[in-house]
Amino acid sequence: MFHRPQLCHPQWLPPHFLVVFTRFSCYQFHSIIRPRKASSDRQAKHSHGLWNTTQKLFPVSFADTQDRAFMQQALAEAEAAARLGEVPIGAVLVHQGAVVGRGYNLRETSNDPTTHAEMVAIRQAAAALGSWRLNDCTLYVTLEPCVMCMGAIILARVPRLVYGCRDPRVGAVGSIYDFSRDDRFNHRVEVTEGVLASECSELLSGFFRLLRARKKEERKPLSGEGDQ
Ligand code: ZN
Repeated sequence: MFHRPQLCHPQWLPPHFLVVFTRFSCYQFHSIIRPRKASSDRQAKHSHGLWNTTQKLFPVSFADTQDRAFMQQALAEAEAAARLGEVPIGAVLVHQGAVVGRGYNLRETSNDPTTHAEMVAIRQAAAALGSWRLNDCTLYVTLEPCVMCMGAIILARVPRLVYGCRDPRVGAVGSIYDFSRDDRFNHRVEVTEGVLASECSELLSGFFRLLRARKKEERKPLSGEGDQ
């Protein structure tokens, strides 16, 4: 008797099928619950909370892998800042999958208080794209942006921001303010936080540990900790 193979039976599934299926499902799920432009603060809070919780529960997805890869590049920028003795904060700006701007904190080197990593990356990206409107871009930065940088992100119409760790002292995306959810602005920013958070945080705390040790050796008072 002719035996018809049952294609749905597990023995017909290639070994990697379940892995591919699981990853695809996670990606689909992420794309469904990814925070969108919210009509109210309450809706935005719920949306971001659900997204961040899901990021923790289902850490493997295409979107997540991509975010982590670009955050690694932002971390490399931050390490370049540390080599110059600057507070290690790095950023990359990605347009349709390609890095069009990158930068790290240069405040001490340039004696310019506006040369935060995000500002450097935004200026470079605008020059590369030939437009001040950074549509279809995602900004990756190792530390929660400050008031100035969040203002620049909104003015440049950057639609999405991904950051590593929070800055409880001057962070303007949830810590002391949340400009990403303020209805008074004519532009809303979709936010994902906590990507490679421990790596970003450890880079900063390691830098300040070293700075404190050097200051102790020199017997000089500590100052400026936490400043970008
Ligand atoms: Zn800033």
